[in-house]
Amino acid sequence: MHFRIALPTPFTVGTINAFAVKDGTGLVLIDAGPDTDEAWTLLLDFLASHGYQPSDIHAVLLTHGHEDHAGLAHRLRASYGTPVFAHAQEIPQLSPDGRQREISSRLLHQLLIQHGAPRSIVEYKDPRRENAPREGWRTEIDHPVEDGEQLSFVDARLAVLHTPGHTAGSTCYYHEASGTLFTGDHLIKGVIPNPGIEFPDGSLEGRTRSLPAYAASLEKVRALPVALVCPGHREEFADHRAEIDRLFRYFERGQKRALRLTDKGRCQAYGLVPPIAGPAHRMELFFFMYRSIGYFDLLEAQGHVHAETIGGQVYYTAARNRLKEERRQGGPDEQDANGP
Ligand SMILES: [Zn+2]
Repeated sequence: MHFRIALPTPFTVGTINAFAVKDGTGLVLIDAGPDTDEAWTLLLDFLASHGYQPSDIHAVLLTHGHEDHAGLAHRLRASYGTPVFAHAQEIPQLSPDGRQREISSRLLHQLLIQHGAPRSIVEYKDPRRENAPREGWRTEIDHPVEDGEQLSFVDARLAVLHTPGHTAGSTCYYHEASGTLFTGDHLIKGVIPNPGIEFPDGSLEGRTRSLPAYAASLEKVRALPVALVCPGHREEFADHRAEIDRLFRYFERGQKRALRLTDKGRCQAYGLVPPIAGPAHRMELFFFMYRSIGYFDLLEAQGHVHAETIGGQVYYTAARNRLKEERRQGGPDEQDANGP
């Protein structure tokens, strides 16, 4: 039914999996790999060794807009007219027009500083990284997919599952007939996906609550009868529920740590971040901050903490401490609330 094509990337993540799903005499490709000559040659060699031409690819379905997954889509599109499918919320990430990414990057810096991260690390520009960010790999989307949509090709049928969390437009593709779920970076065995924070409406307030969104997406996938998970990295695996439960346990531990931090009084998300070895390690700070803000977002959604902004900084207080505080200050207490 499908082939896994493991492609090398120049990134720390290692190899990425593209999957080729048989479609009549051709193929549908799920993710494309990074925009390197090495990956391109390997992809073409793989197709040839299975008796296919690149023109036999009927569509490229992207799980999300990160460069390791989406980078080669533009080459297929430019050389063979292959249509590119992705969720509309991945357009800012994928679009060759970088204006929205610039705004988002500025807002992200602002957000992390608001949550207590040191400005000197957040805004640090590494002089060793002389190369400008690679932009040439980006692509237009021919077909924006929507949650619940059924994609029908020659004989391949794939259902679209919008699973926001890792990115706002992360999407899984479900081949119901075989119970195969193509997950991209939503679900990878032994990996805690990074819940990236985005700004879909261009405002700080409109930021994504990516960890609560991710938890809801995991619940959605957990309910599906899945025989095989085909992830964006590492090997295929069978027991998706065990893997999802492992992630929930991991996030519960994070939430407990976050709640403990509030025991001593009001605190900030940065309080959960382990020491960063220096500004050159700023990406580590970003990853820890995503998760840390995510734990507080989860606690806030469950009513366990309150967020307030004081002097431009975001602080969290445990709901139970806040009650005590209010009582001390002569505010409403339980007796008043329950009185006749
Ligand atoms: Zn990714």
